[in-house]
Amino acid sequence: MIYASAPGKLNLFFEVGALRPDGYHSVTSVYQALAIRQTVGVEPSNKWEVITQGDLPQAQLDLVPKDETNLSVVAAKALADFAGISNPQPMRFHTFKQVPVAAGLAGGSADAAAALLALNSAWELGLDDVQLRKVASKVGSDVPFSLLGGTALGLDTGIELEKLSDLPTMQVVLLVSPIGLSTKEVFARFDELFPDGDLVADPADAISGVRAGSKIGKNSLLEPAISLRPELVEFQNLLPGTVGHLSGSGPTIYFVTNSVQQASDWQQQLSDLGHFAIHTTTASHGAEAQ
Ligand code: ATP
Repeated sequence: MIYASAPGKLNLFFEVGALRPDGYHSVTSVYQALAIRQTVGVEPSNKWEVITQGDLPQAQLDLVPKDETNLSVVAAKALADFAGISNPQPMRFHTFKQVPVAAGLAGGSADAAAALLALNSAWELGLDDVQLRKVASKVGSDVPFSLLGGTALGLDTGIELEKLSDLPTMQVVLLVSPIGLSTKEVFARFDELFPDGDLVADPADAISGVRAGSKIGKNSLLEPAISLRPELVEFQNLLPGTVGHLSGSGPTIYFVTNSVQQASDWQQQLSDLGHFAIHTTTASHGAEAQ
């Protein structure tokens, strides 16, 4: 079995443009990798299949598709296509998940990134980082960042990446909302609320604002997400003295601090209130072979 892993992410800053004729949205994203990661092992099989385990509640793991719609399988087929393999060897994927599912934390994208790296080795393709990132961009907007990790500016749909110098490590508490919210639904509401888009900041200002702390948490999708799930406002304000931010299209709300003790206390308070909360940190690693 060949293994690789890739990180979950936050969007520390996320502005979204108007719906484009190709059906996508341009974004200005400051991506940040997290210490929680997905690990994917690959081995040949007589059919495409995915086995999922992890540090997550069973109800979360049950949300992951086990068939060919799983992003690991989608990534494998895109890789085969790129490499000119017309009849790829079906594979079994063993996925160990730390990143919550359908949460705005790029869990599926991290699986896809780890699968690409593992298969590059298993199939002895020898693709370099630039080639792998090209394949990744065909699988999903967040997959190239899942390969890269660290802190990065994402433009176009998020696939055009500029690596930024690492920010000081931050403590992060993730409030994994019990309410579902589909990415498609949030973007559709965004289009109704912002027909001209919401790309306001110059990317350089977005980066300096995040570095200064003042722009952390700006997210064009907050208003549409709240209009669909008003209880998100309550979740943002569950901890006294701080306000949580939405990651990507949500529904995860994240809280940041420099204090390990503070974050540990917040995680405990949210758990005491009956929520599924994870204490993690920001991290500089991208996808890595194991
Ligand atoms: P993003 O932030 O990239 O929009 P997300 O973190 O919100 O993604 P994912 O965990 O990637 O959400 O899951 C979104 C949906 O994708 C799930 O509801 C699931 O049906 C589907 N999916 C496909 N492959 C996977 C995978 N390997 N892991 C998790 N979900 C997957």
